[in-house]
Amino acid sequence: MKILLVEDEKRAADYLAQGLAESGFAVEVAHNGMDGLHAAINGDHDLVILDVMLPDLDGFAVLTALRTSRQVPVLMLTARDQTDDKVKGFELGADDYLVKPFQYPELLARVRALLKRGHAAPSEEVLRMGDLELDPVKHRATRAGQPIDLSAKEFALLALLVRKAGQVLSRTQIASQVWDINFDSDTNVIEVAIRRLRAKIDEPFPTKLIHTVRGVGYVLEQRG
Ligand code: CA
Repeated sequence: MKILLVEDEKRAADYLAQGLAESGFAVEVAHNGMDGLHAAINGDHDLVILDVMLPDLDGFAVLTALRTSRQVPVLMLTARDQTDDKVKGFELGADDYLVKPFQYPELLARVRALLKRGHAAPSEEVLRMGDLELDPVKHRATRAGQPIDLSAKEFALLALLVRKAGQVLSRTQIASQVWDINFDSDTNVIEVAIRRLRAKIDEPFPTKLIHTVRGVGYVLEQRG
């Protein structure tokens, strides 16, 4: 398994690279955003660990550029414990987020979870709810026969809601199953994701499928 680590602080980079190497990974280190982006686009890494605060090109800019060419899993690192940064990172396509300072075992656990998820075979069954259809293999969604363009996270969120149709899912359940992490209680990552999903699969259609259960979470079902 190859990991690209993009981190400008040399001591932190050395420490993490050594830990990951001792854990059995092949590690390549880039010390600024431009080098990191170049290595990520041209490499065949299984995972990218990307610091947000970088010289030249920050982590968000690297992620944005990277997402136009490769869908490698990205774990972002930041010293800023800001919900806005987390939301921004996830919207740009980060797969997980770790706030500094963190303990190495925590990083290793996140890395292993991301790599395991990336290699899990997708379920082959086509998911249906009313006139909504999701094909996990082709990564294709349609409603009433109309194709709907969804990001990877939006697709994963919708697939979870369809699989658990009729069941109310809490934000914590959604966060742990779609993002593999536990959010702080004040985050609005889930609300933002649900809002985007509604705009695509519910707003253009007369029958709404995603419903908010106040104080509890969300449920996908046909009502009335
Ligand atoms: Ca940094």
